[in-house]
Amino acid sequence: MNYTTKAIIIQKTDWKESSAIVQCFSLDLGFISFIAHGLKQANNPNQDAIQLYNELELKLTKGANAELYVLQNCFVVNRYSQNSSFKQLVCLSAAIELLRNIYISDEEINNVYNYTKRFFLFSKTIESLYLVYFARFSINLLRIINPHITSIPCDYCQSEKNQIVAFDENDRAACNLCSKDIIHADTIEMLDSTLSFILYYPNSFWSMIENLQENELFINHFKRLLNKLFVVHYNKPIKLKALDLYY
Ligand SMILES: [Zn+2]
Repeated sequence: MNYTTKAIIIQKTDWKESSAIVQCFSLDLGFISFIAHGLKQANNPNQDAIQLYNELELKLTKGANAELYVLQNCFVVNRYSQNSSFKQLVCLSAAIELLRNIYISDEEINNVYNYTKRFFLFSKTIESLYLVYFARFSINLLRIINPHITSIPCDYCQSEKNQIVAFDENDRAACNLCSKDIIHADTIEMLDSTLSFILYYPNSFWSMIENLQENELFINHFKRLLNKLFVVHYNKPIKLKALDLYY
């Protein structure tokens, strides 16, 4: 069988004398790996194309019982990591890590791919607030798969109707009502305001952009919130290792 798809390269591993196994996130097939025969040979025409975070148009084949696809040829559509700063690369890497942690159905793969591509294109154009944009991308991406992803029950009153506005020292979430009458008020921390905007006022994001900030509180709360969303909705924690490199 022959396949043609767009894909973003996410990993390249040497294989045998002169070849490589390449992992990518593709528009039509999700995460796949393919063999690039002879990639390490001098003058292999695909060497320049098969680089981390390049988006390629791939022509692949796969035998009936074969596990891996085999590359026939490819050409570059976009080079997302070209001229990128370290922080930009960290965010691209964190985006891929996030994608690896979610289950994407066949119906959702095109939307997820296209939204990821939009973020990759956009991240080339920005010069600050990388993590604010990454946080917004993460939440919106999760919304594509689950529109109710940001509904988190308050750990004090168990209601899902109220906005979560604070975390306590044990990462318990407190709603706007409970946060006002928690006895040990000194143990709760109000949610970072930029993160609140991303979560609860997505349509106001662009008009507020001048006022949004990324500081250590934002980053700390974003990591805790993302983990909370995963624990509540997917019964598993998440920690994006790439983000540890951000500061
Ligand atoms: Zn509550």
